Amino acid sequence: MNILLTGGTGYIGSHTAVVLSQLGHRVVLLDNLSNSNAQVVDQLRRITGLDMPLVHGDVRDTPVVQHTLEKFDIQAVVHFAGLKAVGESVQKPVEYFSNNVQGTLSVLQAMQAHGVNTLVFSSSATVYGEPQFLPLTESHPTGATNPYGRSKLHVEEILADLARSDPKWKIACLRYFNPVGAHASGLIGENPNGIPNNLMPFIAQVAWGQRTELQVFGNDYATPDGTGVRDYIHVMDLAQGHAAAIDYLKQHPGCHPINLGTGQGYSVLEMVRAFERASGQAVPYRVTPRRPGDVAACYANPQKAHELLNWQAQLSLDDMCTSTWHFQQSLGRLESP
Ligand code: NAD
Ligand code: UDP
Repeated sequence: MNILLTGGTGYIGSHTAVVLSQLGHRVVLLDNLSNSNAQVVDQLRRITGLDMPLVHGDVRDTPVVQHTLEKFDIQAVVHFAGLKAVGESVQKPVEYFSNNVQGTLSVLQAMQAHGVNTLVFSSSATVYGEPQFLPLTESHPTGATNPYGRSKLHVEEILADLARSDPKWKIACLRYFNPVGAHASGLIGENPNGIPNNLMPFIAQVAWGQRTELQVFGNDYATPDGTGVRDYIHVMDLAQGHAAAIDYLKQHPGCHPINLGTGQGYSVLEMVRAFERASGQAVPYRVTPRRPGDVAACYANPQKAHELLNWQAQLSLDDMCTSTWHFQQSLGRLESP
């Protein structure tokens, strides 16, 4: 199929581009490069041996999206483009609703105009809000606690209405848990601007010596070692999940919310120890107060993805840490004088 990846030069988009193109799909990337770099296209060429067209544009620019759908005869869209920092969303709600909600509406308008009905949307486990039970199934009540989460929830509701309005629509809302890791080549990975918000890139920078210590946000949660527990999933497994969703949608109209997680939770301290083992480096840490808005534990029941998509995560915690470390080393070498 000819598949458009909005946000395709970003972290999850670039890994998904590798998987889809290696499965024989023709992949086109559209990105405004607000949180990524056009050089990713060169890295994708090195990994796959293929040239993937990059359209430098904003998803809110409907004519650009429509022109891209026409020019490349696109049959399905994977919509990654959006802003994703929870804290920033509290400061800049308008930007978040504009990029995430208005951006999605614009993509939908372009798809409607061009008769493209297959969409995979990047949603998030954040749509579950504070867990009422664990592991989280797709029928767990939704409820967001910040503008980022609300933007994902609004989009999911819009997509459900759209699928109800017209049985031609085939939509998967993939609710990602905590994507980590990198492609085994070390050529692409997560490269956040400034101080990382997320645990894994922060740990990697401490192991590399770029930061002195990790702050562990609270050790008084009701978890086995008191630190927060999350369902970390390798980004290459996540990428495979998108390919499986596109296959599933061929025969299954409607709007399908589906968890993509491993079902296994790890604490912050377990992540620190796993990274130390994989990298052979020390990761000094200091316990600090809880981060506002954090929940004690969050992990998926991934059964629905297994049943519907015939997909389940394959890669281990060690794979997640080893590939992150490999990418951090490549990055660190590039960035040091
Ligand atoms: P990312 O920032 O690396 O990738 C997003 C890409 O979208 C970037 O390349 C950015 O330049 C682009 N973009 C942003 N706004 C755009 C716009 N208006 N028009 C065109 N391009 C635009 O983030 P990621 O981690 O790859 O996340 C991809 C998607 O997955 C996002 O929608 C995010 O909310 C969702 N998600 C991510 C996580 C995570 O932890 N990484 C978890 C759950 C959901
Ligand atoms: N965390 C931490 N120090 C950091 C970043 C994160 O202790 O510098 C903890 C955080 O409190 C949570 C876990 O690591 O328990 C995962 O946080 P992340 O921001 O990566 O993901 P999310 O909170 O969005 O699930």
